[in-house]
Amino acid sequence: MSSLIGQHALVVGAGIGGLTAARAVADYFERVVVVERDTLPERAEPRAGVPQDKHPHVLLAGGQRALDDLFPGFEHDLARTGAVPLRGGLDVRVELPGYDPFPQRDLGWQAYAQSRAQLELSVRQRVRTYANIELRPRCRVQACVARADRAAVTGVQYMQAAGKSATLEADLVIDASGRGTLTLGLLQSIGWALPEETTIGIDLAYATAVFAIPETAPQDWKGVLCFPQVPQHRRGGLLLPLEGERWIVTVAARHGETAPEDEDGFMAWAQQLRTPTIYKAIQHAKRLGEIVRFQFPASEYRHYERLEAFPRGLLPLGDALCRFNPIYGQGMSVAAQEAWALRQLLAARASARDPLDGLAPSFFAEASAIIEGPWAMAAVPDFAHPDTRGERPPDLEQRLKVGLALNKLAARDPAVHKLLTEVQNLLKPRSVLQEPELTQRLQAVLAEG
Ligand SMILES: Cc1cc2nc3c(=O)[nH]c(=O)nc-3n(C[C@H](O)[C@H](O)[C@H](O)COP(=O)(O)OP(=O)(O)OC[C@H]3O[C@@H](n4cnc5c(N)ncnc54)[C@H](O)[C@@H]3O)c2cc1C
Repeated sequence: MSSLIGQHALVVGAGIGGLTAARAVADYFERVVVVERDTLPERAEPRAGVPQDKHPHVLLAGGQRALDDLFPGFEHDLARTGAVPLRGGLDVRVELPGYDPFPQRDLGWQAYAQSRAQLELSVRQRVRTYANIELRPRCRVQACVARADRAAVTGVQYMQAAGKSATLEADLVIDASGRGTLTLGLLQSIGWALPEETTIGIDLAYATAVFAIPETAPQDWKGVLCFPQVPQHRRGGLLLPLEGERWIVTVAARHGETAPEDEDGFMAWAQQLRTPTIYKAIQHAKRLGEIVRFQFPASEYRHYERLEAFPRGLLPLGDALCRFNPIYGQGMSVAAQEAWALRQLLAARASARDPLDGLAPSFFAEASAIIEGPWAMAAVPDFAHPDTRGERPPDLEQRLKVGLALNKLAARDPAVHKLLTEVQNLLKPRSVLQEPELTQRLQAVLAEG
């Protein structure tokens, strides 16, 4: 009991961010309530509150590790529920211009592929094993409640399942509502400064279909990632395995193209990808369910770490802090890493006189250190598209060239390939790619022209 720092923590949203945050704080609060507007299904089914869950959701190895730290043995849960093991560097055929495919090598780590609904169910089931965490579905939070002096949040006002409005008090409120509008609304209502936002307009259109894996499926890969030749082409494709002997296939385009929702249109898009691998694989495969679409106009990073003042007792986390371009598969993993960092912070502060004092700025500093790498790794290739909106890095051309040189070196050298995929999978910080020896080798590749 000595580690307790408060009686009641409240989490808004039972997505990956909210569930992992609930686990992160559960050792430090007597009671944790997760308030979720949706019904939470007992099976791996899509939910209205997360419409993106019908689209592929890659769990990066770094996110998987954070989940396994928060819920020891979680990787076994994934295997047990039928998630498909993928050897890093080997099982997904990566088709990049100039490398069709990129060398396939076993780089020594394992990830799992499954539907977002199945992953969320696995996390939810783990959360349910904690006696002090209560999941409260069908309750919509309407607003955060501020203390009279406005310097702290004391709870939330929410609409109960029965349709009655009520107030729930808490020492700590975590806004894992995805959009993060509760935090922004609170700051507006108390007249405090809003965070600056970095926005990258990508106008991404997704169309996704699920197929039964045919008997004729190739044996030399389990998934395919087909990148376009930028800027001539705007469409890319992704095929990944799911639990239940299925493939999930997405064709995506940027800047103004409308993704197809009819069979012919979908297959035509698949056929027009830069390489034929995905189309050939699904050409005669049986489609299961509807083709679904998603529009993602812009990535958004809210810089709470730059604010001079922030109310006590409130933390936005996950997408509420930063919404990443989904094609890089970073959002859930970053959310889980933020939750893991929050737990470390609480552990370090538990013996302080007032552990919640200054928690928000410390958390924002940790979160921005987590976000910075994946954000930059997505922003640089995003700006290779001339129509992408936002502030281009002044040295964009050079960064793009270094990126190409890094791919070239990684194709030649398994050690560099391993390092690059570890960074892309959030297992290592981006700074390892700037070490002097590697920089020298990259300069040599750049000199080749
Ligand atoms: C098309 C698409 C594909 C993606 N692909 C990937 C991928 O491959 N890999 C990856 O890691 N990420 C991917 N993402 C991002 C990923 O979905 C999010 O980053 C991740 O879910 C973390 O979100 P979160 O928990 O912060 O918010 P969410 O998952 O959006 O969850 C928010 C929860 O809060 C609930 N809620 C909202 N408002 C309220 C309220 N007022 N009261 C109560 N409950 C509320 C919602 O119902 C929901 O359950 C993708 C996103 C999109 C759009």
